[in-house]
Amino acid sequence: MPELPEVEVSRLGLLPFLPGQAIVGAIVRTPKLRHEIPLGLASRLTGLRVDAIARRGKYLLLDCASARGGGWLLLHLGMSGSLRLVPPDTPAQKHDHFDLLFSRTVLRLRDPRRFGALLWHEGADVDRHPLLAALGIEPLSDAFDGDWLHAATRGRRVPVKPLLMDSRLVVGIGNIYAAESLFHAGISPLRASDRISQRRYRLLADSIRSTLEASIAAGGSSVRDYVHSDGGAGSFQLSCAVYDRRGEPCPSCLRPVRAIRQAGRSTFYCPACQR
Ligand SMILES: [Zn+2]
Repeated sequence: MPELPEVEVSRLGLLPFLPGQAIVGAIVRTPKLRHEIPLGLASRLTGLRVDAIARRGKYLLLDCASARGGGWLLLHLGMSGSLRLVPPDTPAQKHDHFDLLFSRTVLRLRDPRRFGALLWHEGADVDRHPLLAALGIEPLSDAFDGDWLHAATRGRRVPVKPLLMDSRLVVGIGNIYAAESLFHAGISPLRASDRISQRRYRLLADSIRSTLEASIAAGGSSVRDYVHSDGGAGSFQLSCAVYDRRGEPCPSCLRPVRAIRQAGRSTFYCPACQR
């Protein structure tokens, strides 16, 4: 499943090509992905210009708001979505649901499992879109640090790992990133969120940021005109210390990595190194 780093890599991959370009048309080949695709989307988009590409959580946001009647195109890659830039008149394949046409290139959305989303927000204030308004802090933003995490978790007795994965608190920390970040910070995934010191939350925030950035850097190196997001395990060649390594030696103490179920998800950690 595309995670925050894959979406950010897609954004970075599109940046050299789309901003400043006029939309000359759009083709919607399917009426519904996770949500209905808005009726008349293609005619709304035609004639607008993409001014910028932003990201909020795992949503890619194409800013087409500068013209009268403009707005934002929201794209979510769901479980299996990918974006690529193809030359005009490239024949569509089976799962190619949407094309955004520019004079010299086509942005194409492929999504075999159709859990992605393609939505329109009229006007400039995209943060008010119902799917974005409830989202928590961005982990790569300046506002996100250990002091913020410490303050936000006071009175929260829920174990720290499911809380980190709650997008109402902080967006984009999927299962792999939660497991790896907690390992590098030496914090047990089972520890109650309000029983972690400010000092340890600073380690955790740094660890979350560096884990996400390492994954973005790994994916970024492979991006050229092909904007990729894999439908597999959900991370680029991120070398995991504990994730999916049940029974293998902990890279720090060599004791076996433990796997448990937690809030319906598999959790991997080292009981010796993580307290
Ligand atoms: Zn260990």
